[in-house]
Amino acid sequence: MPKTADHRTHLVLENYIGGKFVPFSRHIDSYDPSTGEVYCKVPDSGKEEVELAVTAATEAFPAWAARSPSDRAQVLHKLADLIEAHLEEFAQAESRDQGKTITLARTVDIPRSVYNFRFFATSVLHHTTECSQQDHLSCITYTIRSPVGVAGLISPWNLPLYLLTWKIAPAIAAGNTVVAKPSEMTSVTAWMMCKLLEEAGMPPGVVNIVFGTGPGAGDALVSHPEVPLISFTGSTATAQIITERSAPFCKRLSLELGGKNPAIIFHDADLEECIQTTVRSSFSNQGEICLCTSRIFVERSLYPEFLKRFVAATRLWKTGAPCDSGNNNGALISREHLEKVRSYVKLAVSEGAQVHCGEGVDMLELPDRHRGGYFMAPTVLTGVEDASRCMQEEIFGPVTCIAPFDGEEEVIGRANGVRYGLAAVVWSRDVSRVHRVTRRLQAGLVWSNCWLIRDLNMPFGGMKCSGVGREGGRDSYHFFTEVKTITVKH
Ligand code: NAD
Repeated sequence: MPKTADHRTHLVLENYIGGKFVPFSRHIDSYDPSTGEVYCKVPDSGKEEVELAVTAATEAFPAWAARSPSDRAQVLHKLADLIEAHLEEFAQAESRDQGKTITLARTVDIPRSVYNFRFFATSVLHHTTECSQQDHLSCITYTIRSPVGVAGLISPWNLPLYLLTWKIAPAIAAGNTVVAKPSEMTSVTAWMMCKLLEEAGMPPGVVNIVFGTGPGAGDALVSHPEVPLISFTGSTATAQIITERSAPFCKRLSLELGGKNPAIIFHDADLEECIQTTVRSSFSNQGEICLCTSRIFVERSLYPEFLKRFVAATRLWKTGAPCDSGNNNGALISREHLEKVRSYVKLAVSEGAQVHCGEGVDMLELPDRHRGGYFMAPTVLTGVEDASRCMQEEIFGPVTCIAPFDGEEEVIGRANGVRYGLAAVVWSRDVSRVHRVTRRLQAGLVWSNCWLIRDLNMPFGGMKCSGVGREGGRDSYHFFTEVKTITVKH
């Protein structure tokens, strides 16, 4: 068993390479966001460790790829069962590591991680390839798909195990082996999962996890010549670096990036439902979800009533100790990120915006133990110009801007007037309008009269600077397999 604590009772993580935990001497401090204290040491891996992991993954690849999909699926199912059996431990760890509430970790992050394995275990059994007959040429042409090899997987800190398993599951289900690098700020649940791999029947080298920073371990993975594909979820700025670094090797890239997601609320919306959902879509997980709403456009006739009721509902969205199941929000990921989010509110105020609740208006009452944590109350701004950085840039915190609009044409232009194109929400009871508006929005995902309802079979991903490629049942299978077209003359 790996060592779990040093003499100062810090949790000490180790890389998992070739089916073994590998002790390491260089570490990065990882903080408990709800107290501001270091509680965990994460390996600060680099080229050498990535090299070992890629070697292990390369050696494991032929045997894993040769197994039948249903044989591989059994291992994924077993792993899902094991994570589920330890759900509470995983939820506690995710909440402490990320700052999210224990409730969210228990009801969303960990159950979804379990489901990712179950979903891809079965989904991979049902794909078919294509076939076309050219009788006049006496030919038949068909496609076959094969796993690509060693997949490099890089994930962010906001939904740590959820997003890591969203990549590991389809990659290994399709017969690849993987080297994964979670965010250095939230590595604990990935490490806990490694402890279950052997019992799940995962052969050594199929899943390797190397911990460390982006410029260290992440870059070593991206620039490794024997890693032909990279699935990355994170910021647009990092994706630009990854694209450049992988270009000399012509790597296949899947990039799931940031957003500046609008909600468009027409006068005929079901207001009660719309307000409850839009508070949730703006502030869930402290606003640290790529799909969170951060620009709310409200039809002018509804604007005064919407604003009043939205601010009142926001004030009921409670921020506090993540371990208290009565809270809706916990702490932001880091002090640096908290300061960045606050700086956007300051900027908006300096430009003439009004703060209706939250930052600078409402005091948070925190237990003594959490006074040093990175907490921020949900904040609602109005009077922010569309051209302001607050309306253009991803804030990725509990801040949302509300603005009135006049008419469909205007609001579509304003909603599309950012460089991002990840998600959007449209609220209206008029079905024709819903279809008209949703099809014109530049977003990879559009919800109407709801938010965050997902069918994992369907494509997930963004347009414009929000991403390249799509993930999901068939899309992930296509990404993680190489297609070959074969023509046979008879
Ligand atoms: P980030 O880009 O800073 O880091 C993401 C991951 O990339 C981390 O593991 C990090 O260590 C690694 N990384 C950083 N620099 C690297 C480099 N040069 N080479 C290789 N790897 C490197 O993002 P973050 O701050 O962890 O996450 C927040 C961002 O992720 C937000 O922009 C959010 O919108 C986005 N996100 C997108 C989705 C989506 O599905 N579209 C989902 C969640 C988060």
